[in-house]
Amino acid sequence: MSEDAIRLETVRKTYRGRKGQPEKQALKGIDLSVPRGSVFGLLGPNGAGKSTLINILAGLVLKTSGKVSIWGFDQDENPRQSRASIGVMPQELNLDPFFTPRGALEVQAGLYGVPKSDRYSDEILRMIGLEDKAEAYARTLSGGMRRRLLLGKALVHRPSILVLDEPTAGVDIELRQMLWENIRALNAQGMTIILTTHYLEEAEEMCDEIAIINQGEVVARDSTSNLLGRLDARAMVVHPAAPVTALPTGVGIAAELRGDGAVVLRYHSQSTSAEEVLETVRAAGISIRDVKTEEADLEDVFLALTSSV
Ligand code: ADP
Ligand code: MG
Repeated sequence: MSEDAIRLETVRKTYRGRKGQPEKQALKGIDLSVPRGSVFGLLGPNGAGKSTLINILAGLVLKTSGKVSIWGFDQDENPRQSRASIGVMPQELNLDPFFTPRGALEVQAGLYGVPKSDRYSDEILRMIGLEDKAEAYARTLSGGMRRRLLLGKALVHRPSILVLDEPTAGVDIELRQMLWENIRALNAQGMTIILTTHYLEEAEEMCDEIAIINQGEVVARDSTSNLLGRLDARAMVVHPAAPVTALPTGVGIAAELRGDGAVVLRYHSQSTSAEEVLETVRAAGISIRDVKTEEADLEDVFLALTSSV
């Protein structure tokens, strides 16, 4: 059995075009694995394919091709077990207005075949802060309460994996903090968490690992710290006027001599300014004939991401 919580192999999804529309390739061969026990972030701009991916995991959208394995169960060979292993908090508020929170949890538990004796609606209501509203009609609940109820519904069958599709998009700070606390507590109990977001900040705050998805493709996947480290990584290439004998040294600056005689200086723009780098070059007695800086490849991706909100 695989040690991954989720494994996707060359997963493609092509939506048939609506009336007169061309078909849409929403996922273009996704390979992705999510380790058990992690908080994994799927980060990408609107239209990237995040919900399509989540909905395939949830069994709500049929993939066009590829393999999906959930908690070691192949989705096609073991549809029942793979479905039982995952709980999904959807992006949209799709609650029946005539159910109470307790009723909604009980119905959901019934759908998943959870026997009455194994249900824990009171505990869920307490966790999502809806004990007081247990018997109120869903239509009388605020937007934030409904969202918390959606989280509760995803938990009724005690899934190994919890998937949240943009859990905090458009919510206020207080609710965002509360959802984050819930997610952390569930992860601390051993639940694997996968969340999608188009907020870089949320991924940074919550996730151990991140995959960046753009136009149906995974364009980067790394630990959060590596990814964020790479984001502000810079390289300055200095062509000296005369051959270099001593490399510049400075805190936070890694210098190397390139084959063509240029000096490459690597640094992070958040902690070191370009001016400081130039000063260390001059301090090493190097006179500069030409200089240029290079940014990490991901910078463009992230600029696109953060400006598309
Ligand atoms: P995200 O969640 O990252 O915003 P989606 O997975 O919702 O992205 O959408 C990915 C692409 O697929 C978008 O271009 C979207 O318009 C398209 N799409 C999503 N659902 C459908 C559908 N049911 N029919 C046709 N196209 C769809
Ligand atoms: Mg979406």
